[in-house]
Amino acid sequence: MALVTTTEMFKKAYDGGYAVGAFNVNNMEIVQGITEAAGELKSPVILQVSKGARAYANHTYLVKLVEAAVIENPEIPIALHLDHGDTFELCKSCIDGGFTSVMIDASSKSFEENIALTKQVVEYAHDHGVVVEAELGTLAGIEDEVVVEAGHESYTRPEEVEEFVSRTGCDSLAIAIGTSHGAYKFTAAQCTRNADGILVPPPLRFDVLEECIKRLPGFPIVLHGSSSVPQEFVKMVNQYGGNMPDAVGIPEEQLRKAATLAVCKINIDSDIRLAMTGNIRKYFAEHPDHFDPRQYLKPARQAVKDMVAHKIQYVLGSDGKA
Ligand SMILES: [Zn+2]
Repeated sequence: MALVTTTEMFKKAYDGGYAVGAFNVNNMEIVQGITEAAGELKSPVILQVSKGARAYANHTYLVKLVEAAVIENPEIPIALHLDHGDTFELCKSCIDGGFTSVMIDASSKSFEENIALTKQVVEYAHDHGVVVEAELGTLAGIEDEVVVEAGHESYTRPEEVEEFVSRTGCDSLAIAIGTSHGAYKFTAAQCTRNADGILVPPPLRFDVLEECIKRLPGFPIVLHGSSSVPQEFVKMVNQYGGNMPDAVGIPEEQLRKAATLAVCKINIDSDIRLAMTGNIRKYFAEHPDHFDPRQYLKPARQAVKDMVAHKIQYVLGSDGKA
């Protein structure tokens, strides 16, 4: 199977009450970890590349790594998606360069400017057989070059979604219902603490999601900033010389619930970073004399694979849906 768009994936996910995981890729080990898990579990998967990933690894390397994953996993549908494109030129470059899906994120602009830029990208993308994700509302947090300070986020306004989708022609819509980018999604002041002293974030705004679904029946919704920041990895980082106090994410059961509704794509990046960093720190602490990158990247890759397998089975529900 060649690289696919997300059209068919989302239709099946919407009707089937599950979501497809969109995992950020930056190097070979991450691509392998994700696609080995998806391949073994017969799950569709979206590999997504940010502007920062392109700057780090180079467009061609990333596309070729993803094409290798497609060859190695012929039984599952794989889409290659641009995460947070911020200009027409960046989106065009990815459309021309082999991506099957792009996001144009003009959510920080005015409603009319967001529509105009999104529409421009949609027209070019659709002419080239590529699908487009757009965004309404603003998430808090930090992701590569997307930085929104706490207090400057805003929930999606459901009364705007129909007009936005019909005027832009976008294929899916990212909405803000309280998820957040990065490993520090919430300040202590926004949370309560459980008996173990771990921060418990405020619940997602399912009322906003339900209202959007009512106004856009059958239309695929996307959640960004949906890492759960597993405390086992945070603990591992902190135990082996790291310092990540109060890193906290979105509880998995809330994402599972969103996946059963109209949410067809759930973005996960920080959990990959944490899985790798925790395991590499542990490896270095336990083997101070080792210096071959293969020695510590192997358990890091395995940790990505195990984490993704867990998400596919227990959060996304996409296993067996290839
Ligand atoms: Zn995002």
